[in-house]
Amino acid sequence: MDDVKTLSEKLFMNPKNAAAILDESEIKVADDYAEGYKDFLYKCKTERESVVFAERIAKENGYVEFDKTKKYNPGDKIYFVNRGKSIILCVIGKKSIGEGVKIVAAHIDSPRIDLKQNPLYEDSDIALFKTHYYGGIKKYQWTARPLSLHGVVMLKGGKKVEVNIGEDKDDPRFVITDLLPHLAKQQMKRTLSEAVLGEELNIVVGSRPFKADEGSELVKLNIMNILNQKYGMTQEDFLSAELEAVPAGEVSDIGFDRSLVGGYGHDDRVCAYPALTAIVECDNPENTIITVLTDKEETGSDGNTGLNSSYMAYFIADLARMENLQMHDVLSKSECLSADVNAAFDPTFPSVYEKNNASFVNRGVVMTKYTGSGGKGGTSDASAEFVSKMRTLFDENNVIWQAGELGRVDEGGGGTVAKYIANLDIDVVDVGVPVLSMHAPYEVISKIDLYMAHKAFKAFFKS
Ligand code: MN
Ligand code: MN
Repeated sequence: MDDVKTLSEKLFMNPKNAAAILDESEIKVADDYAEGYKDFLYKCKTERESVVFAERIAKENGYVEFDKTKKYNPGDKIYFVNRGKSIILCVIGKKSIGEGVKIVAAHIDSPRIDLKQNPLYEDSDIALFKTHYYGGIKKYQWTARPLSLHGVVMLKGGKKVEVNIGEDKDDPRFVITDLLPHLAKQQMKRTLSEAVLGEELNIVVGSRPFKADEGSELVKLNIMNILNQKYGMTQEDFLSAELEAVPAGEVSDIGFDRSLVGGYGHDDRVCAYPALTAIVECDNPENTIITVLTDKEETGSDGNTGLNSSYMAYFIADLARMENLQMHDVLSKSECLSADVNAAFDPTFPSVYEKNNASFVNRGVVMTKYTGSGGKGGTSDASAEFVSKMRTLFDENNVIWQAGELGRVDEGGGGTVAKYIANLDIDVVDVGVPVLSMHAPYEVISKIDLYMAHKAFKAFFKS
């Protein structure tokens, strides 16, 4: 008869810190991989910037722009940009597309502060922008910290002007002010969700008036004059702009051991980057493989650049037609890893997690069978069969992975693009990186977990 130790080892799950069990050489590979990611994270703070980056990587790796009138052969690499905010990369497989495609889907939008359509105003000699936050944020976290401004302005007549200001060290930055504690007696009585209200997220953009003997709103005029000289815009052009305020500044290693990375927008660029690197490392796959980097996940995936729209299905329909197949012939046989983050267990706030089913930093990529809230509302729940297939695949490819649920039952909840993909009759499960301080202006992830995401997606594409 086995002794207790042997039997326990044989029968119990025994999750470990990946850094404790990996070879030093693989830890070095993970650390090196993180350097490329840090560069991406710093340079790509919006969906549009992420698309430009992914398109450049695609071109450098031999991908050509998709032309639905052409016929493609096994090994051909194509990409499709949807309105500058989503991108699909695809490598045609050796097998018929009727055997299904393998999709890794991540999102490249992150919580942020959008400018309102008519943002600029002056009050008490300060020029400010009115804003409307995007995605689920704790509003108080966005005050009193340096912000940069990214996006586009479509000028009258249709010329597009790109804006990216506040990242270079010589750039000015922007800020949402907060009340000093000395005068915050009433504010401190507000609940945390109301500590800073949506209409209080006003961004300071200037304070010097246009020099004139008469006239009103001269600080606003001075700012508008600067914007006109720099971008050629008038106030009316804000109406056709998409300007996004995001945390300005660097991506950094965190900790004396440099095991973690801190930065803005890990959710979900920490999955988008490995989804991108995995596909560019997979030439001549068996099945056709697809990486989709999508927009609008943080607001529920609605809109024509989000995965609740038909753009990915239409792309697959175009591929299907080349083999005289129907779209559903392909979709029903397809598989997808919905590459999205989960909440890493935070020892400072243990009460919201259930330790046996939480994901932990450094325990590898996390497979999340279902998300949603309440009684599994609003989620796809991956089948036991598909989870089995993926866990076998990961184990065979030495992918360190863990299972995780998003917090305790009835503690809150969330969702990913998985349900929209499942609704296309595709087998899908969420696989991504655990994140600390998710949706904060500065989030934290583990380098090893990031690298395991790359390994997981690559193993999936190669299977
Ligand atoms: Mn996400
Ligand atoms: Mn999110």
